Parts: sequence; C-alpha cells; structure tokens
Amino acid sequence: VSAPPPTARELARQVLAGECSAEQVARQHLERIARRDEALGAFCSTFAERALAGARAIDARRAAGEPLGALAGVPIAVKDNLCVADQPASAGSRMLSTLIAPFTATSLQRLEQQHAVLIGRTNMDEFGMGSSTETSIHGRTHNPFGHGLVAGGSSGGSAAAVAADLTPLAIGSDTGGSVRQPAAMCGVTGLKPTYGRVPRYGLIAYASSLDCVGALARTAEDLALWLDVASGRDSADATSITGGAPCLPSLTERADLRGVRCGVVRELNGPGIDEQVLRVTRASIEQLRELGAEVVDCSLPSTQHAVAAYYLIAAAEAASNLARYDGVHYGWRRGDAPTSSQETTRTRSEGFGEEVQLRILLGTFASSYGHSEQFYERARMARDAVRRDFARALQSCDVLLCPTAPTAAFAFGEHQGDPVKRYLCDALTVPASLAGVPALSMPCGATDDGRPIGLQVMAAHLRDELPLQVAHVFQQHTRHHLVRPEIAAGGGAR
Ligand code: GLN
Repeated sequence: VSAPPPTARELARQVLAGECSAEQVARQHLERIARRDEALGAFCSTFAERALAGARAIDARRAAGEPLGALAGVPIAVKDNLCVADQPASAGSRMLSTLIAPFTATSLQRLEQQHAVLIGRTNMDEFGMGSSTETSIHGRTHNPFGHGLVAGGSSGGSAAAVAADLTPLAIGSDTGGSVRQPAAMCGVTGLKPTYGRVPRYGLIAYASSLDCVGALARTAEDLALWLDVASGRDSADATSITGGAPCLPSLTERADLRGVRCGVVRELNGPGIDEQVLRVTRASIEQLRELGAEVVDCSLPSTQHAVAAYYLIAAAEAASNLARYDGVHYGWRRGDAPTSSQETTRTRSEGFGEEVQLRILLGTFASSYGHSEQFYERARMARDAVRRDFARALQSCDVLLCPTAPTAAFAFGEHQGDPVKRYLCDALTVPASLAGVPALSMPCGATDDGRPIGLQVMAAHLRDELPLQVAHVFQQHTRHHLVRPEIAAGGGAR
C-alpha cells in the first residue's frame, strides 16, 4: 500500500502557496492517465489542450498577484453525461456519439470559477441506466481493485479514476445510486447531495425528478469542498435550490460523534444482503458508536416497494426525456432510410443499446393511457410513502445507516440477461433517491478477498453536512479510505 497522493484540498493549498504550478499538476495527471488508464478504461477522453491552457491561465493569474479560488489547479474528471464546452459528451451512447457540447454545465462552471481544471470525461453506463459500467459505447471500465470485476455504475469511470489516483476528484450523477454504489465498489467516498442542491443544467437527462449531480473523492473533506462550490440556485434549472449550511466549515465543528443519533434501518440491514457486507458494515457501525454516536434501531417499512417504484418512475421519465433523440434534432442519425419515420425507427433501434430500449418500452407502457393508474400512479404513491417514512425517521435520528450495496464488486457479465437481479442491486440506494435526501457512501472495509465495501449515511433535506461530518470523523480515526489498489502504486490491476 503506497502513501496516498494529495487530496483536492491539499493540491489547492500547494498551488495557492506556489509549491507547485497548476500546469505541473495538470501535466502529471494527464501523464498518469495516459500511462495507467489503458488497463482500466475509466476515461473516454482527456481534455488535454483545454486543461493545460486553463492551468497556464491559473498560473498567470497567480504570477500577476490576482486571487485564486478554493479549487486552484485541482484536476477534476467529469462523467460523460455532463457538458463541457467544445468537448464531446456522449452519455455512453451511440446516440450522442457525434455531440460536441455547446456550453459548460452550471455545476462545472462553478468549479472553473474557483480555478479547478477539468481534465477529461469518464465512462458510464449508457444514459446512466445500469450499475456496472458495462453498457457504454466506450467499452467497459475495470475495477482498480481487481481486473475482471466491475467498477459499479453508472459512474464507474469516475469511481475507478479516483480509486486509481488518476484524479483526486471526479464528478458523477446519481439517479438511483450511480455515485454511491460505484464509490462503494471502488473504495472511495461518494456523495449524492439533496435533490436540487447542485443544479442539473448541462446534465444529460435520465429521470429528471431523481437526477442529481454528485461527486467522488478519497475523503469526505474533498466532497464538502466540492459541494460548497457547486451548490446553489441556478436560474436555468427550475428545480435547483439554495439553502443548507456551508459544509466544509462545519467539519471542524466536531472532533467526535457525541450527540449524533444514528438510525440503523431495519429493512436495509438484513435479508438480501451478502454476509460479508453485513459483517463489515456492522463492524463499522460499532466503530461509529465507539466514536460517540448513539446507535438506535429504526424502520422505513415502505422501502420494500422502493425498487419497483423507482424503476417505474425512472423508466417513465426516461421514455419521455429520450423521445427527443429522433434522428432529426440531435446527435447521431442512421441517415439512409427511405422515409422519415423509418429513419427515426432505424436511428433509435441502432442508436440506443438494449437496456435503454428496455427502459423506454417499460416507461412508455407504465405511463400510457389505461395503464398509468395501475403502474405509474401507484409508483408515485409508493414514492410518497417512502418520503413520509424518511421524514418520520429523521425526526428522531440525525442520520440513517445501511450498506451502500448488497454485494461487493462482481464479475463482468454476472448480471447479464437478468434485469430483475440487476435492479435489485439498487435496493439500498434508491430509497434516498425517491425521498430526495442527501446520501453518502464511505469505505468501511473489504471482503476477505479484498473487494471494498461501503457504508451509506443518509440525512434529512438540506442536511448534507451531517453525512459529511460523520464520514469526516470516521476518516479521522480509521484507515479504510486510505487502502489503495495495486494499480495506484503504478502496478497493473490484479
Ligand atoms: N442502477 C440504477 C439505474 O439503472 C441507478 C442508475 C443511476 O443512478 N443513474 O437506474
């Protein structure tokens, strides 16, 4: 295990202090990506020229004595479904394989305003629909902790990039777990903020009432730094909100967890979860207790309907959002059909992969006239029940705990051909998505054969600082988040 390289916060400090230049940092990371990513497939492409030009501009500012922002010179990788001006953004899909983004997503603009350097785009399941980063046109992403293992998904590229030390901070998106689950499987820390806290403008839509921009890093401290910069109302996103306490300053408020009431969710800590995952997460909950937390039992009964409700709502919204890709308005088109309706059919049959087509069919059916009362409307009722359960549980608890995923990283192809098995992988993450509450995954140990395991920490609306504080205290006293895969030390993946 090698010493971990500097975190985002430490890098910004070094650049601000003039201990190294932003250009040096960018070059180092680009070179590391060039050397190590072939074995991983975490990146779709780098923004080398843009990144180096941006880094030089930052160094010039510093030389001129102008002030620099909180992310000065920090390289940041960006999931392939977030727009960066003049760069490709494909959401892992052939349908968008020809798109060059015309503008930069609001949440990324805010990072650049604080002088971060966007370094490249990371791989993902097509349109965010998946949990293993196996369905991208850019190929699969390998887990740095074991070749042949999935990195999780859909933000698998971002998780693998951070785990392999190719970037200190990576941006992802989380609709039903896509930041938290790959973070857990790759041994990094991932945050899905409160819905709306980080604007969605410039995020390629999957399911709009659930989509959140999130981030992955080695430490909770880096995620707090990111959230404080990226969050706040944006007039281009009507669902974006301002509010909540600044998170980074709040981390110094606690040296331990005395006075923090942690609810262990009965329904999300038992049947259906791998034995090793349960053993490791229980041990980490015990560590939280030793750090002063009060640990109590609690219940979210309606979460038994969460997976079904999530997949109906997400698919219905996806069917609507993806209707715009018709071979005329956007992106890729087949271009050789005799009539325009055949053109649309061919473009959509070949532009979308199998999983995406499955979701469009499911979502169209579930929300169609004559069926929506039976499916979509009932899913909405179940979602309301999940929301009420969270609100009630979070009246008496500060945070709620459960494993992030029912298993550690699995082998490529393991869930192919069985959508229900795939969808059940999300049972522990979709409840917080339906409720719109903040949720974080932190590394808390590993299986006997060294595959990382994550503990999920959820809190009430706009209380993002609570999971960040819990994770920060935990990381001050434990070493789980410091375990590096061999590839991070320059070796190959196992
Ligand atoms: N695996 C879930 C899905 O396929 C969640 C994905 C996500 O959060 N984007 O919908």
